[in-house]
Amino acid sequence: MSAGVRSAVDMQFCMQCGSGAVERRIPELDNRPRDVCSACGHIHYENPRVIAGCLALWQDRILLCKRNIDPRMGLWSLPAGFMESGETAADAAIRETLEEANSRVEVTGLYALLSLPHADQVYAIYRARMLGPECAPGVESQSVALVTPEQIPWDQLAFATIRYTLELYLADLQHGVLRIHAGDVLREDGGASRLRLHAA
Ligand SMILES: [Zn+2]
Repeated sequence: MSAGVRSAVDMQFCMQCGSGAVERRIPELDNRPRDVCSACGHIHYENPRVIAGCLALWQDRILLCKRNIDPRMGLWSLPAGFMESGETAADAAIRETLEEANSRVEVTGLYALLSLPHADQVYAIYRARMLGPECAPGVESQSVALVTPEQIPWDQLAFATIRYTLELYLADLQHGVLRIHAGDVLREDGGASRLRLHAA
């Protein structure tokens, strides 16, 4: 199966009625295989998850968190995490920054929207202004740091998305203007990734 049609979970029981008769098939009026309950007909759609985070700035410094959880424990990331039901993407980014870095921020705009089709994820990274320099590790962080662009630990970043976001930010700084970036993080054969930007 291709990456786009695999089942994220090996579903044995219908989430709707509890029946054990879930089968993988293309529902009527659809065009891709789904887990369909043969008892009640419930279709278990699987859709990408949104990860919201902040490029949180205090003067010329960037807020980074050293992860205290897997995956990539001990490596550095921007404060970011999965959106919760019922919240906006911007609110999720603010909440994650508070949870992971005990830092209060004000979102000043979208910075990067990156799709990761191989991981069924979408990253929404917001530009944010820290309301003060105070920050401290939350339970999901080993430590937090406010770093200058020169201090970014490039060889200790947790995710390609974070590296691309920081690279875009440094390029924007060089050009003297912060832009909104949209792109796709594509997985190459062998596991490396590349960024394909949607640029005008
Ligand atoms: Zn069912």
